[in-house]
Amino acid sequence: MNGGVCIIGAGTSGLAAGIASTKYLRGTVCIFERNAESGRKFLLSGSGQCNVTHAGPIADFLNHYGGTKKVRFVKPALFAFDNIAVMRFFEQRGVSFLKREDGKIFPKSLKSQDLLNVLITEFRGQGGILQTETVVKNVSKVDAGFLLATNRGEFRAKKLILATGGQSYPSTGSQGDGFRFAVQQGHRLVKPKPALTPIIVRNYSFADLSGISFWSANIEVHRNSKRLTSGQGDILLTHRGLSGPGILNLSRNMEPGDELRVTLAEPKKFVPNIFSGKKTLKNALQHFGLAERFLMQILKSFSVTPDQPVAETNRETRKKLESILTSYPFVIESLGGWNEAMVTSGGVILEEVNRQTMESRIVPGLYFCGELLDIDGDTGGYNIQFALSSGFLAGNSSQNCL
Ligand SMILES: Cc1cc2nc3c(=O)[nH]c(=O)nc-3n(C[C@H](O)[C@H](O)[C@H](O)COP(=O)(O)OP(=O)(O)OC[C@H]3O[C@@H](n4cnc5c(N)ncnc54)[C@H](O)[C@@H]3O)c2cc1C
Repeated sequence: MNGGVCIIGAGTSGLAAGIASTKYLRGTVCIFERNAESGRKFLLSGSGQCNVTHAGPIADFLNHYGGTKKVRFVKPALFAFDNIAVMRFFEQRGVSFLKREDGKIFPKSLKSQDLLNVLITEFRGQGGILQTETVVKNVSKVDAGFLLATNRGEFRAKKLILATGGQSYPSTGSQGDGFRFAVQQGHRLVKPKPALTPIIVRNYSFADLSGISFWSANIEVHRNSKRLTSGQGDILLTHRGLSGPGILNLSRNMEPGDELRVTLAEPKKFVPNIFSGKKTLKNALQHFGLAERFLMQILKSFSVTPDQPVAETNRETRKKLESILTSYPFVIESLGGWNEAMVTSGGVILEEVNRQTMESRIVPGLYFCGELLDIDGDTGGYNIQFALSSGFLAGNSSQNCL
């Protein structure tokens, strides 16, 4: 079979690219997908509920992709198919959304399957061909376009869109093949690494307290005694370390050996008389609103009992308690691997891709979208939004220039 536009990967970005390109190219667009079903990762998203995007103004999205260097790149795609356009697209096809207090957008049914069905139905309804259980093994450039070698034979394409995702959750099908194809075509990569991942903490003493959360904690990442970066967000104690949006969002910048300093209790809550009067230590510390089990553990580590009157607690211990609650040190033993990371940071380097069209600057007719690019977003719907936006832009541009 020969296709006008071929897309590798029927995940979030590949389906968006397919929908955009079939809009005008009936019957000539084909998506190859290794799995028997499309969108495995999309189905898992948001614990199966799919946090598809965020409610904030689209201009606010720009800073959620890991720093100022990424802003210029993500802007044309995000503005071409923004969060309002995404919601409108699904609403026109019968989906209703709900907005959580934190601005995250989910389908009202809380079923990612409902959104995935819309994407697949739309693509097929416009005449797109979805060829599942087809693994693309090799991509080569030929005169009239591209030759794809698959487990089902060879296919030719005039334009090729790589939508193979990154490397995280390889069981969903994204196993890093797209990085290999991009390199074969002369592209360079920023080394892919797991991101939006929990961390394992060295000499961790809170394994028994897994499940306890801290709301909106300040987190500083220190390397070689220098502050590298910081952020704010909820933290969750796990069996082996830390997770929660505050940790996940900063994980792209972390390395084993880094020290995190976490503000568990706000310094301003340390009023001068907190340790005065006839209170016990336990009563005094309850002022901070932290989980009692956590405070008991902290007191135990100071070899003091919860019922000890504050008046009988020496100044040094009180100072140390204050210091540890306002800047708790955690040393990173390791970061979660590919099976735990929700996304891949790194990927096809952005300078070699035209951000207005998603076309390669090296190989005309080759397009990229989604996580394969050196773009990874914060939690909150930013990754699916970018996958849909960049897929839409790649699909649109590829059919425009046929
Ligand atoms: C557990 C989990 C929860 C998440 N929750 C959210 C969330 O709530 N909100 C959010 O914004 N983001 C979330 N994400 C991230 C988001 O799902 C991804 O960033 C997004 O789906 C990436 O889209 P993509 O199209 O780039 O890649 P994918 O969706 O991974 O699609 C790539 C597709 O390409 C196929 N493929 C790869 N290589 C080949 C090949 N050689 N031949 C044929 N097919 C191939 C794969 O099988 C796969 O179907 C979550 C991720 C995980 C793992």
